[in-house]
Amino acid sequence: MDGNVERVLARLFAVQTPLPAAKPELKALAEALTPKARPGCYAQAVMDLGATVCTPRSPACGICPLMTMCRARAQGIAADLPRKLPKQAKPVRQGTVYLVRRADGAMLLETRPDHGLLGGMLGWPGTQWAETAPQPAPPLQADWHDPGLEVRHTFTHFHLTLRVLLADVGLDATPDRGMFHPRALFRPASLPTVMRKAWDIAQGAWPL
Ligand code: SF4
Repeated sequence: MDGNVERVLARLFAVQTPLPAAKPELKALAEALTPKARPGCYAQAVMDLGATVCTPRSPACGICPLMTMCRARAQGIAADLPRKLPKQAKPVRQGTVYLVRRADGAMLLETRPDHGLLGGMLGWPGTQWAETAPQPAPPLQADWHDPGLEVRHTFTHFHLTLRVLLADVGLDATPDRGMFHPRALFRPASLPTVMRKAWDIAQGAWPL
């Protein structure tokens, strides 16, 4: 249901249940109020009222055509509705990605597991992403360079901080996972955003 409509109905009936739990109640109210004749015009009118008069922060109750029947206005709580559950703080996970460049310019990438975040997509080899420092998981033995770089990225359910380690390796390097992609075929833009950020941030510390 449109957010403007939810707001108008929550105020009109002084619904105290916070969103999103209040959605079924508001939907039932909307359905009960919708007339058989010209329901589209009715829905549009309520949306317009929410967008122009019954606005989120300062509802203009004094010019509202529903003012005499509005319970929230009568109770003086219009601007407080609809109530919303406080947003939960997202946890922060951390991890490390290992950027490996072979002497011929090829870059080491691995396909992520099919299940889970970024499933089946190409990315840099890395550790697990966890709320406590995960175990190091370099894809090969190398002289790892830590330029102190961090990538920050936010997913739906957590913030991620990735440490970026770099290594240049010889043509005989044999990683225990992933595949080297020839430089001419490597397309940073085709990587998922968080992996592309790691590539972008590495450029200053790792001149080509
Ligand atoms: S009277 Fe105020 S709170 Fe009630 S519907 Fe109108 S603008 Fe919204």
